[in-house]
Amino acid sequence: MRTPSIDLHVHSNFSDGKLTPAELAAFAARRNVVALAVTDHDTMAGWEEKEEACRAHGVECVVGVELSCELDGREAHILSLFADPRSPCVERINELSGSRFSRMEKMLERLERLGIRIGMDDLPVAADGVYGRPHLARALVEKGIVKNVSEAFGRYLYDGGPVHIDKTRLTAAEGIAIAKNLGGVAVLAHPGVSDLISRLDEFIAMGLDGLEVYYPKHGGEMIARLLAFCRDRNLLVSGGSDFHSPDDGPGIGATRTPVDVLEPIRRLASERKK
Ligand code: AMP
Ligand code: FE
Ligand code: FE
Ligand code: ZN
Repeated sequence: MRTPSIDLHVHSNFSDGKLTPAELAAFAARRNVVALAVTDHDTMAGWEEKEEACRAHGVECVVGVELSCELDGREAHILSLFADPRSPCVERINELSGSRFSRMEKMLERLERLGIRIGMDDLPVAADGVYGRPHLARALVEKGIVKNVSEAFGRYLYDGGPVHIDKTRLTAAEGIAIAKNLGGVAVLAHPGVSDLISRLDEFIAMGLDGLEVYYPKHGGEMIARLLAFCRDRNLLVSGGSDFHSPDDGPGIGATRTPVDVLEPIRRLASERKK
């Protein structure tokens, strides 16, 4: 049996992940992941199903969301952990997810201009209509136009690529405010793989609560550096696999995030809800 760990960042088919909440919870339980946050992109939809799935597998469910934000045009992802799905702020999040549908229509038009016909019906079903580029990538693979998802991104979907259209994003300041107004803890996702690592103090000035220190693409040196930074700036430490699909990347619990990082996050979130 693996040492117990937690995973505070995975995706389900409520956004661009492949697995259902039930499949995720089963995977987590198999890996001895004792707390799981299914943080879909720009939606809190499915939170009841996620809670139910976790309960059925004896895994603690941390309700959360990953908000698409930007700082000076650079993508920044803010997680809200222990978010309250009944908060009025969910309305603002729904605007983001709603705009992803029209964005997808525009990306399909771009493909058509390149002579590639893919319709909305050809996309894998997004449980809540929260479409992302991975859906399109999978349809391109399915149609035999590219060999794999990575080639779909490499040829068509990469940032600034021929088919890519910017999604609606919050400013980083707004994302942090919403993450906290949801009653949650605001964590900057994957800080070591974004080009925002030199700007962490700006996020702190905006009220950021913590950093996703444990992340599959963070090497030992990066983790040590981020842990020291969190200690120095009094930030909370979080960790997650950013799992999307069993076909790519390491699985749930890959970061082996220690169980004891959860308690301070939980404490702050419950103080915030008072
Ligand atoms: P979107 O939110 O629609 O802009 O799509 C971004 C998502 O695409 C990310 O959350 C990743 O899941 C995925 N992604 C981005 N770049 C790549 C890549 N090069 N290969 C595979 N997936 C990617
Ligand atoms: Fe994603
Ligand atoms: Fe992300
Ligand atoms: Zn993610």
